[in-house]
Amino acid sequence: MSVFESPSFDDHELVHFASDATTGLQTIIAVHSTALGCACGGCRLWPYRSSEEALEDVLRLSRGMSYKNALAGISLGGGKAVIIADAAMKTAELMRAFGRVVERLGGRYVTAEDVGVTVQDMQFVAEETRFVHGLPHENRAGGDPSPYTAQGVFLGMKAALTHRFGRADFRGIRVLVQGVGSVGFNLCKILHAAGAELIVADVDGTRLERVKASLPVTIVGVADLVTQEADIYAPCALGAVLNDETIPVLKSGIVAGAANNQLARAEHGEMLRQRGILYAPDYVINSGGIINVWSEMNCLTKESVCEKISRIYDTALKIFKKADEQGSTSNRVADEMALALMQRKAT
Ligand code: NAD
Repeated sequence: MSVFESPSFDDHELVHFASDATTGLQTIIAVHSTALGCACGGCRLWPYRSSEEALEDVLRLSRGMSYKNALAGISLGGGKAVIIADAAMKTAELMRAFGRVVERLGGRYVTAEDVGVTVQDMQFVAEETRFVHGLPHENRAGGDPSPYTAQGVFLGMKAALTHRFGRADFRGIRVLVQGVGSVGFNLCKILHAAGAELIVADVDGTRLERVKASLPVTIVGVADLVTQEADIYAPCALGAVLNDETIPVLKSGIVAGAANNQLARAEHGEMLRQRGILYAPDYVINSGGIINVWSEMNCLTKESVCEKISRIYDTALKIFKKADEQGSTSNRVADEMALALMQRKAT
């Protein structure tokens, strides 16, 4: 399958394939749009089964970044990188080789952390390129974006709780968290502090042990999570978890989580709506991390990051209300708002 035939190709500005024989690096970088600024989005390291699967992912994720950055009100375009590798293949040299690829693009794409990539990895990348963020700084924004992402997701959940159940209080609210990695674990901490009850699932036993050691959580199998009676389902692992199989059996009134591309297809937003389930569009509420990256680029303070993240609550509420008024889905309304912002800037 060529790039142009891919169902996820959306007139992307650039799709760059690169490899490095010495380290085994195989990477694809996609720049969806630079209408609002240089393309920025994380780098995902994942053992894709094929380069077609990796291409699909990077095309969808980079498009999502354009929409996310537009609605977050930050002057960045949408881009993303994927590295086809498993965790055992990840070495400092492989990350440096990736850094050299990013450098060769001359700033059209700026990278940061995503699934499978840590702050330490980005420090190796930074040895080879200026176009990297998510690096630690003493007295200003920067470092691991995931706590900021979790904070934004919490605010999006709060907006959904207010809109769907007329309350902003998390005491006694039961939340299903799928994936207790960087964002999911941080989200669990915030939810617990707010009084929520947590049911969690992860494919990685060490991640489950970590959360169990510090918080009162109930652990269930991944396949059993969505059928639990709960108020909120928070997908915080990978995408396409809202699909023909899961939506009919979901027992939560709200879906609000960090994972990118939660809807397997856009029409699954309508399926959720018909079941009376309020969906907080993923890229609207998971923008805290990229807001932190943008703030790092602009040498802003940590306080200003939190102030900008707090706006996620209002944006989410606005989308929910507009969707109700128009008899539309929250994902369609969010897409329309993001596209309008990109076109306004491009014209
Ligand atoms: P991570 O790799 O730290 O955590 C992901 C967790 O999900 C891991 O613990 C993994 O074992 C688990 N997992 C994988 N497959 C699973 C499955 N089928 N069921 C249950 N658990 C599963 O990644 P992260 O940084 O926490 O990101 C999580 C999601 O949020 C991703 O979709 C990512 O793109 C998105 N996101 C992350 C950020 C960020 O700041 N890190 C920002 C925006 C969006």
